[in-house]
Amino acid sequence: MVSGCILTMDPLRPQAEAFVTLGDRVAFVGTREEALSVAGSGVREIRFDEGAVLPGLIDSHNHMLWTGVQRTQANLAGCKSIKDLLAALRKYAVAHPEREWIVSGAGWHVETLAEKRYPTRHELDGVSGNQPVYLPRVGHAAAVNSEALRRAGIGRDTDDPKGGRIERDENGDPTGLLLEPPAFNLVGRLVPPLSRHERRQALLEVQKAYHAVGICGIIDPGLGPEDMAIYEELCRERRLTVRSVIMPLAQTHDDPDRVIADLRAWGVRTGFGNEWLKLGGIKVYLDGGASLGTALMREPYPDEKCQCGIQVTHTDTFHRIVELCASTGWSIGVHTVGGKAIDIALAVFEDVNRRYPIKDLRFSLIHAYLWPSRENIDTARRLNVGVATQASMQFQFAPLLVRRFGKDLVGRATPVKSWIDGGITVGGGSDSPVTPYQPLLGIWHAVTRHVDALGTSIGSDEAISAEQALTMYTRNSAWLSFSDQERGMIRPGMLADWVALSDNPLEVDPMGLREINVTATAVGGAIVHNG
Ligand SMILES: [Zn+2]
Repeated sequence: MVSGCILTMDPLRPQAEAFVTLGDRVAFVGTREEALSVAGSGVREIRFDEGAVLPGLIDSHNHMLWTGVQRTQANLAGCKSIKDLLAALRKYAVAHPEREWIVSGAGWHVETLAEKRYPTRHELDGVSGNQPVYLPRVGHAAAVNSEALRRAGIGRDTDDPKGGRIERDENGDPTGLLLEPPAFNLVGRLVPPLSRHERRQALLEVQKAYHAVGICGIIDPGLGPEDMAIYEELCRERRLTVRSVIMPLAQTHDDPDRVIADLRAWGVRTGFGNEWLKLGGIKVYLDGGASLGTALMREPYPDEKCQCGIQVTHTDTFHRIVELCASTGWSIGVHTVGGKAIDIALAVFEDVNRRYPIKDLRFSLIHAYLWPSRENIDTARRLNVGVATQASMQFQFAPLLVRRFGKDLVGRATPVKSWIDGGITVGGGSDSPVTPYQPLLGIWHAVTRHVDALGTSIGSDEAISAEQALTMYTRNSAWLSFSDQERGMIRPGMLADWVALSDNPLEVDPMGLREINVTATAVGGAIVHNG
C-alpha cells in the first residue's frame, strides 16, 4: 500500500490518499482509511508525507539502447568550442588505444560550440595517429577525419549518394561533413559495432539511470533486428525493468520492393508482445532535422537559397509502406520535422484511409515541430493521428533556430498547446540521446517555454499547464504505447508503475519543476529506485 498525495491522472478520480497493490497491479484506490481496511492488518505501507505520487512516467520517443551504447563512447556533451571537442577526443584516444575507431556519443551540438560549425576533417586529423574518427550527430549528420574518408573511398570525384550530401569546400574536396544517412553511412557502416554482449550490458545499465529520473516505460523508435533481439533477450530473462515498446525501422534507402516484402513477411504486427516488451508501429523517416537544415520545409530556408531540406523517403515508397501498414494492422510512426514533411505524411494517411481505415491504428507524427498548420491539426484529429513531441528539443535547439528563422517563428515551433487544443493526443518524450532524457526537464520546458541560453521564454502562447504536461508523460504516452488499458494512470486493474516526487508538480512554482527530485520509482509494484 502506498499513501500520500496521489495524483492518479485518472479523470474519474484525479486525487486519492492511497492505493493498494496486489502482485504487479493496482487493486484499490481511495482514502487512506479505506485502503487500510481493504488491505487488512499487516499490510506494508509506504508513506510519502511530502510531494506527490504519480503513475510511472513514459517517454514516447527515447532511443534507450542507443542512449546506453553512447555512454560507452567519447563523450562530447558539454564541449563549448572546437578546441574543447578536439581535446576531449584526444583524451579519449589516449585512454582507449585498443579502439580501432574513435566514435563519439550523441548529446553534443554544434549550436553549443563557440564556432557554431562542425570540425573539419583537417582539425580531426590532429586528434589521433591514424585512427579513423567518426562523430555522428542526431542521426542526420556526421563529421569524420581524412582517414575515415579514405577508408570509405570518399574523394573529390565521389558523387553525392541519393538522399544525402557530401559537403565540399570551394575546391570541391570533401570537408569531412556528411549529411543524412546515405552519406554518413558510407563511413558509419565501416565502424565495427559494439559486441552483442557490450550492447546488452549497455541496455541493462541505462535502465537504472532511467528509473532514477522516474521513467517506467519508453518507446524505442527505429530499431533493426539485432537491437530488437537484445530487447527480447532481456525480456525473456526478466531483466527488462523499463517497459519497452519497440518500433522496427523501415530502411527506406534500400530497394522499396524489398522493404515491403520484408514487412509483409513478418506475420506479427503492432501490439504483439506483453506488458514488458511490445511491438509498436513501423518507424519511417520522411525528412531530416531542423538544427541541421535538412528538415523538409514548405519554403526555402532563409539562409540557403533554393534549399528546402531533404526528403529522406520518396513519397511513392512512403505511400506503399503506409498502405501496407493500414491493410495489415501495423501502426506507423513517421519522423516529420518540417511542415512540408507533415503535409506529405498526412496527405498520404488521408489517401490510404479511404481504402483502409486507420483510425484504430494510432498512426503518429514524430517531432512535427516546424509549424504544423491549422489544417494539419484538423486532419490529424479526424484520422486519430497522435503526436510524439519533445519539449527538450525546443529547449536545446531554439538558440540556433532563432538565428536562422527569427524569434517569432521559433516561438511557434513545437506548438504543443495548439495540438492539444485541437484534440490531438500528444505524448511527451525526449529523443534521448539527442536531448536529455529527464522527464521533469521536458515537463518544466513544456510549462515555462523557458530557454536558458536565450534567458527568456519563447512562444509562451504554446505553453501548457503542469497537469497537461504530466498527462503527456503518462496517459498520452501510454496511448502512443498501445498500453493505455494498463498504464498511464493509477487505477484498479492497471499495472502498479508509480513514481514518488519530492514536490507536488501541480503546486510548485513552474520554474521549479525541473528541480523536483524523484524519491522512489516502482515498476509492477517492485521498487526499482530509491533516492
Ligand atoms: Zn529520435
